[in-house]
Amino acid sequence: MSGREAKGAENNETDCDNPISLDEIEKGLWLGSFTAATDIETLKQRNVTHILTLDICPLPVHITELPFLKTKYVHVSDTPKDDLLCHFEECFSFLDDALSNDKVVLVHCYYGVSRSATIVIAYVMRKYQLSLTPAFERVKSKRRFVGPNSGFTVQLRLFHKMGWRIDQSHEKFKLYRLRMAADKVRKAKILPQNFMDLIKPDPGIQQSKPEPIVYRCRKCRRIVAAKSNLITHTPTTAEIEPKPAGTKHVTFQADIHVPSESSSDESKIGTKGLLDRMNALCMYSNSEKSSGCEPEPRRCKEILFIEPLAWMLDIGKQTQGKLNCPKCQSKLGNFSWVNSVNCPCGKNVSPAFYLVPSKVELTHSVQNVEITI
Ligand SMILES: [Zn+2]
Ligand SMILES: [Zn+2]
Repeated sequence: MSGREAKGAENNETDCDNPISLDEIEKGLWLGSFTAATDIETLKQRNVTHILTLDICPLPVHITELPFLKTKYVHVSDTPKDDLLCHFEECFSFLDDALSNDKVVLVHCYYGVSRSATIVIAYVMRKYQLSLTPAFERVKSKRRFVGPNSGFTVQLRLFHKMGWRIDQSHEKFKLYRLRMAADKVRKAKILPQNFMDLIKPDPGIQQSKPEPIVYRCRKCRRIVAAKSNLITHTPTTAEIEPKPAGTKHVTFQADIHVPSESSSDESKIGTKGLLDRMNALCMYSNSEKSSGCEPEPRRCKEILFIEPLAWMLDIGKQTQGKLNCPKCQSKLGNFSWVNSVNCPCGKNVSPAFYLVPSKVELTHSVQNVEITI
């Protein structure tokens, strides 16, 4: 159903291409087409009191002004790149408001197949704490032609992974929104205003609740990232062993050179870099549990991918560039909204904001005493 053209409100009841169609999915929860939502007789027969519209144009005024109706409109088109997930909670509030008062609500888009079905499936997932497949089957048993587009299907799966809510701190949600933003940056060449919230506060500026585990610039020790800023991934290769010297080197390091300290320092950096990597793996496996040093869940730490931070210059105005320490200007890494970065583990990450592990150090403060790990 993707890509259908907008149809005017005037095409409603007589639209042969889109007959009046609606089905009751749960008690009081109907899913249907635009023509169902604009047919007053249909609404009256079903005692519909609430209408949730997910479309590129709102319902006509002669419907929204009906005295027995409460309506809500969410502007969204039906392409895999459209963000429906961010509207889930406001839609649920509207549905809860209707259903908890024994009212009757109709959720509709144009055909009642993709957008509106996504909201209803998400609602059923949350209500019964289901994964996508059983919720989809449940809805499909009531309305046989439901079919969220591929992007909405991904969003429903992510909704399940987040525990049937929008978890802003969930790594996969951060990545999801970064990808949505990257798509816009690719077209507009700048970060649109409505994605500015993706740029998180600078952890190097006094925080009311400072995080205990932070990364500092190795040269000047300025805090450049906190543990919660990391966006990790599972390595593509089976092993996360450090690669032996001489293995084909990765594009991400092409313009990052070993720091120009004395040669005795260089050997220290090599060992320390290795220790950092191992400690980082331990930190990941043990941060929530207290024992063992098994890399579980296995997280690649070859490059420190992080979320965009307020100290990063030009990330809202450029599609890619360097990340320099905000204090000493040492180059710490790179960013790109538009190109993917090849992690040494084999994973392609996009968009990518990353720090090179050898340029930063991990520190952990315990009761105000700072320990370099
Ligand atoms: Zn620095
Ligand atoms: Zn990796």
